[in-house]
Amino acid sequence: MYGTGLLKGLGITLKHALDTFRDDSKDVPSRYADSIQLDNRRRIIEQPIDQEGLLTIQYPEEKRLLPERFRYIPMLIWDTQKNEDLCTACGICAKVCPPQCIWIVRDADENGRPVARPAEFYIDAAVCMSCSFCTEFCPFDAIKMNHDYELAVYDRYPQLVYDKEELTVPVEYYAALWPSQYAAEEEVRQRKEAEARAKEEAKAKAAAEKAKAADAPAQKRSPEELQALKEQAAAKAKAARSGGAAGGEDAEAKKARLEELKRKAQERAKQRKEQGE
Ligand code: SF4
Ligand code: SF4
Repeated sequence: MYGTGLLKGLGITLKHALDTFRDDSKDVPSRYADSIQLDNRRRIIEQPIDQEGLLTIQYPEEKRLLPERFRYIPMLIWDTQKNEDLCTACGICAKVCPPQCIWIVRDADENGRPVARPAEFYIDAAVCMSCSFCTEFCPFDAIKMNHDYELAVYDRYPQLVYDKEELTVPVEYYAALWPSQYAAEEEVRQRKEAEARAKEEAKAKAAAEKAKAADAPAQKRSPEELQALKEQAAAKAKAARSGGAAGGEDAEAKKARLEELKRKAQERAKQRKEQGE
C-alpha cells in the first residue's frame, strides 16, 4: 500500500526516541561524568549494555564508557617486575604497519653490539589508523592498543609523534584496560613456562640417570672381581713380553739369512773373477 514504508520508518524513529527517554530514566551505564574520578578499569564496560536509544553524551563533562576492545593509539608495555621493556626491538610491528608510522632504533652496548631493546621508538599518531596490526603481530606482547583518545593538539609535529617515553605504560595499566585479554595471555604464558620448566626438569633427570648408569659398573665390582681383572692384566703383559722375545728370535734368523746371502754373493764374485783370469 502506498505510504507503508514511510509509516514504518517513522515508527522506528519514534521507537528510538522513546527508547532514549527509557534509557535516560534507567540511567543506563554507558557514560560517566568526568567529575567522577574513575580508574581505568571502571571506565570499561564489563557487561553488555541494555541500551536501545541514542544517548546524547554531554562531552567533555560526560564521557562514553568504552568496551574493552576499543582501540586508539598503541602503547608499549613495561614489565614492572623485571623493570625492563617487553619490546626487543625486533622490528616486526614496523614491518607490518600498513601506513608505516613506526620507527625503531635498536639499543647497543658499550662495544657497539646490538642489544634486544629499543633505544628509540616513535609512532606518528597522525598517520596511525588504529588497525592494531602491530599488536597482533608482536611476538612478545610488548605493544597493545591504548584507550586514550583525547589527543587533540595544535601542531602535528612534534606533539603527535610519540616517543618511547610517551608510549610506555606499566603492565598493570594494560591489565586494567584489557582485563579479559590480559588474563587469557597470562594463562597461556604461565602454561608455557610450566611446560618449559617440566622439560628442563625431565632433561636434568635423564642426564643424572645417565651419569649414574655410567658410574654403576665401577661401583659394583667386588674385591674378587678386581683381583681377577688384575690377574688378567698381568697375563696380558706377560704374553706381550714373550711375543717381544719371539720377535728377537726373528731378528736373529733374519741376520743369519742376510749373512748367508752375503757369503753366497762373495763366492759368486770370486768365481767370476777366476773365470775371467
Ligand atoms: S613492539 Fe613487539 S613487534 Fe614491535 S619491535 Fe617491539 S617486540 Fe618487536
Ligand atoms: S595500529 Fe596499525 S597503523 Fe597504528 S601503529 Fe599499529 S600497525 Fe601502524
